Amino acid sequence: MEQITVTAKIQISAASDDKGLLDETMSVYTDACNYVSDYVFHTHDLKQFSLNKVLYATLREKFRLKSQMTQSVVKTVIARYRTILENQKEWIKPFFKKAQYDLVWNRDYSLTQNCFSVNTLKGRVKLPYFARGMSKYFDSTIYKFGTAKLVKKQGKYFLHIPVTYDMEESNLCDICNVVGVDRGINFVVATYNSKHKSGFVSGKAIKQKRAHYSKLRKELQMCQTASARRRIKTIGQRENRWMQDINHQVSKALVENNPKHTLFVLEDLSGVRNATERVRTKDRYVSVSWSFYDLEQKLIYKAKQKQSSVIKVDPRYTSQCCPVCGHMERANRNKKMHLFCCKNCGYQSNDDRIGAMNLYRKGINYLEDSQVPDTVTAE
Ligand SMILES: [Zn+2]
Repeated sequence: MEQITVTAKIQISAASDDKGLLDETMSVYTDACNYVSDYVFHTHDLKQFSLNKVLYATLREKFRLKSQMTQSVVKTVIARYRTILENQKEWIKPFFKKAQYDLVWNRDYSLTQNCFSVNTLKGRVKLPYFARGMSKYFDSTIYKFGTAKLVKKQGKYFLHIPVTYDMEESNLCDICNVVGVDRGINFVVATYNSKHKSGFVSGKAIKQKRAHYSKLRKELQMCQTASARRRIKTIGQRENRWMQDINHQVSKALVENNPKHTLFVLEDLSGVRNATERVRTKDRYVSVSWSFYDLEQKLIYKAKQKQSSVIKVDPRYTSQCCPVCGHMERANRNKKMHLFCCKNCGYQSNDDRIGAMNLYRKGINYLEDSQVPDTVTAE
């Protein structure tokens, strides 16, 4: 069994009175987090027990927090420091900027089919919410709710709830479909599956948008003012979010358009010299490795939820090898004409398909190899 956690997002419906109360609670919660963050930064104490002992009374008096909320504040700050220490390996003081509120299941909040009940500075409040897509999670024998996060975006309140459940681990002998997934620039992905069908997601719009961002960045870089630097940062963040959203949609479609127990085969780009594929588009280069990696992570995560698997295979020769006879020769591929023509058997195809077909074939080989029982081979 494998444990899977998905994040369910619901929108809370709040009347103006409740809005005021939620705002106040979130804002005070955030202030309290910064207070504790400051203390931890000076003492390097990350133990819930001792932090509670020192800070509990102050937090309750100074911030008028309920007992349970006090505990959650301390937990939130500890968790944030742990992440920072793990990633940055040093003590950096986190600042809690956005109003937020971390809610422990059954203590700070509870959820029924039609009601969200939450602890506030003035006690418990019950609020309706938009339950679309949520009802399936109410089977408590399967799904467990974790510590949720209440956030406010553009005047609306959302609750992000981690939902954990057990899933039968995907087994190679259950695989019923193999899909070669070739990531690229002209096509975000080209695919080839067990039904011998190819699929393409065009990369044209993405190429144009990235060119637009890059041009904007260049113009701003010439300015060299503080505000230009700020804008460069904002644009970078916006571009990342936009790219992540595309990867989300592409990986979602890949998983949804294929049956359960599918084996997705990707190129392993981690060891390749040109892992940062630099592709010339007109007069500039785009680096795409970050985005490739992001797509990979999203596909792995989503595939798991459908008992499917992702493997990564040696990327060498995937564009030069003939998927029919296996003949390998650089001249098989005519890059300019976007044409693949095997010098041995004469097989012809669009060259963007070839990568996906070869990955598919490597996936089939992988399955065959893994079915060979462990036997002692005679010398
Ligand atoms: Zn051939």
